[in-house]
Amino acid sequence: MPSPFETLNKMLSLEQQRGYDNKAVLGGLERLSDTWAPEAVTYVDTKEERLLIEEIAGLLRRYPSLEVPTQRAALVDEILNKVADRPAVPDRDDKVSEPSVGAPASGEKVVPTTPPKPPKPSVPERPLDGLDSPITRLPGIKKGYAQRMANLGVETIGDMLELYPRRYDDYRSLKTINQLEYGEEVTIIGTVWDTHARETRRGGTIVTSTLSDGTATIQATWFNQPWLVDKLKSGSQIVISGKVDQYLGRLVFQSPEWEPLDKQLVHTGRLVPVYPLTQGVTQKWLRRLMKQTVDYWTQRLPDHLPEASRERLGLPSLDGAMRQIHFPDSWDDLETARRRLAFDEFLLIQLGVLRQRREWRSQPGCPVAVDEELVKNFVSSLPFSLTGAQQKVLNEVINDLRQAIPMSRLLQGDVGSGKTVVALGAMLVTAADGGQAALMAPTEILAEQHYRTIASMLEKSQPASQDPRFALRLLTGSTPQAERDAFYQEIAAGQVKLVVGTHALIQEGVEFNDLRLAIIDEQHRFGVQQRATLRDKGAGNPHVLVMSATPIPRTLALTLYGDLDLSVIDEMPPGRQAVITSWLQPLERERAYSFVRSHVEQGRQAFIICPLVEESEKIEAKSAVEEHARLQKEIFPDLRLGLLHGRMKADEKDNVMRQFRDGDLHILVSTAVVEVGIDVPNASVMLVEGANRFGLAQLHQFRGRVGRGAHQSYCLLLADAPTPDAEARLRVISETNDGFELAEEDLKLRGPGEFFGTRQSGLPDIKLAKLSDASLLEMARNEAKSFFESDPDLSQPEYRLLARKLQAFWQAKTDLS
Ligand code: ADP
Ligand code: MG
Repeated sequence: MPSPFETLNKMLSLEQQRGYDNKAVLGGLERLSDTWAPEAVTYVDTKEERLLIEEIAGLLRRYPSLEVPTQRAALVDEILNKVADRPAVPDRDDKVSEPSVGAPASGEKVVPTTPPKPPKPSVPERPLDGLDSPITRLPGIKKGYAQRMANLGVETIGDMLELYPRRYDDYRSLKTINQLEYGEEVTIIGTVWDTHARETRRGGTIVTSTLSDGTATIQATWFNQPWLVDKLKSGSQIVISGKVDQYLGRLVFQSPEWEPLDKQLVHTGRLVPVYPLTQGVTQKWLRRLMKQTVDYWTQRLPDHLPEASRERLGLPSLDGAMRQIHFPDSWDDLETARRRLAFDEFLLIQLGVLRQRREWRSQPGCPVAVDEELVKNFVSSLPFSLTGAQQKVLNEVINDLRQAIPMSRLLQGDVGSGKTVVALGAMLVTAADGGQAALMAPTEILAEQHYRTIASMLEKSQPASQDPRFALRLLTGSTPQAERDAFYQEIAAGQVKLVVGTHALIQEGVEFNDLRLAIIDEQHRFGVQQRATLRDKGAGNPHVLVMSATPIPRTLALTLYGDLDLSVIDEMPPGRQAVITSWLQPLERERAYSFVRSHVEQGRQAFIICPLVEESEKIEAKSAVEEHARLQKEIFPDLRLGLLHGRMKADEKDNVMRQFRDGDLHILVSTAVVEVGIDVPNASVMLVEGANRFGLAQLHQFRGRVGRGAHQSYCLLLADAPTPDAEARLRVISETNDGFELAEEDLKLRGPGEFFGTRQSGLPDIKLAKLSDASLLEMARNEAKSFFESDPDLSQPEYRLLARKLQAFWQAKTDLS
């Protein structure tokens, strides 16, 4: 007598075979919840199984409301999985055994371990938790390979599908051997005449095959793959793709891609994906594994994007996109696939930040009663008048402070646009109402700089100078212990209301009495986690203002920081002299040095930035040390030069920066680490070596280090052998000083994913989306908003998969931080 689960299995399998038309059971699968379920309950004897049946009945009831076959398939799969995974029961027979996973992957020896599969498997597959399972479930993946794949960030089958190709080689142009020309990338089909191996003098092997296609013959050679002798047997037909090379005056192939003709082509004769590799993983092995994984798993890939959205937006289905991103049929198909997957990335980010925002805003905040008089007095006591943009932003911030909903605001303003004074205004207003305000900077030197600026503004400010409410403290890693203990107490008791500091502010031991405003400067230097910690330092939910000088185009800011409201200071204080930027040729280096020298002789200071070294920070540091030594010895022996690089300890860096700020050094030689936001008004020359290697945003930050005082300042860009892209960047940076305009240009110039720097921003990994996908981004944003408006928790059945995907997407990120 069959168990109720077997019966259910049969009915669901039948439904699968019918293509999910809901006709496998008379009256529809939903009827089973009234017929099958009550009966099934009488057969089981554990509580778990009863609950399982109830759960299944609930799922079955939803079945007819799903109109899309993939959604129905996903639901059926889900039920089958639940049945398969249920606690061990006696009636379980081998029908519900572990599903086999695609074709075997053990290389050339394709031994079918499973009989050919029927078109619709009658055994449950596991679409979702299947994707979560480790890649050791794939045939041919043993522990050792799993470890290697982990180096590529691949642990699960789902990760595997998201290991996207780095590029694609176009091997579609099929030619006959007599048409081949030196240097071209082609594919040929030929018969192996003869293959032999020989030893090289160094003990390696060279395998040489002679191929013919009836028009001519050609030789192909491979190094150190002696086993090929057995594979490339005389008479076998193979496909070869690669670059036509030359040896001793004859055309040859050197280590081309090849595969037998009788198979579906994976490595040759098509747009061939090229994957990132790691030690012990070859392109061919990975590609073959990928093909099997893609072929098998994309058929079991439910689409998390509701069909209605997909249709409205003209996006392909997930399984199709996944197949095409790996093994595209054409460049157009590839782009269509990429758009779909990039859309998903944007959508998931957007949904995440919207959710975040809702969470924050749903908590009660701590409103500040604003003393208008104080604001007015503060503004008029400043040694300058605020720019219109500063005034506007200050109003926005103050208005937020009044609200019972906690502020979450991003203040963007180009380098030198005067963000600090806005921050100070907000801090004073908070303190005047008895609340505490903290300003956190990423480095000691910056914290110190803020402290001094604020202290001197307070001194000059009529309302604040003598007022005990405005006592100010600086708390950093180098605050002496005794002093620190005293500060902790003052802060905990609420005697001190204004605090400036570094990470020291969020350390254990720091307890605020009534933190109502937390300000974070140069926010991109902090992880999301640190932001959250400072936020948590308040007993309530403090208002949070984050400031950034990294110009980001508005659409992008809205996406990346969609959880924050945005304020922009888009106007510079009057009277700033624009930095003059020149792009120099390598031959003009000597001239650049004399230019630096002449400014030092006039009492100014200069920065010299060393070229970016991609390999590692260690090598970069080494070359900076060498450059510093060279400049000191050969070029500026009579001047005092300092050195700054990423391998120095924080206090060493701060020390050097301090010396430079205090004028003890004439020239600071530095890698790209030179602190953002540092204010050395006496510095008037910024010389950037290897300027072609830096991105626009970074060049702009460097340039922002000078031109902060009264002196006309200069930025000299030395470029060696720039690529056309680099030339474009250098042209743009020499022509415009406006950070936002630059960011827009940057957006146009940059390649995939580069701009985001997702690790740092605390966002999930973005693999396929490009910054230039502005319209796609807008599309995703609108879609996310409309999902969110109709169903903020994504609890409707059509969003079930999306909700899961969202969870997983952000989960990966949280694990990182
Ligand atoms: P950033 O936005 O880069 O943090 P800061 O707040 O450090 O800029 O301001 C840069 C300099 O400009 C400071 O010396 C500050 O005193 C000065 N400043 C700020 N606002 C004005 C203004 N409206 N007019 C003149 N100088 C200003
Ligand atoms: Mg600043």
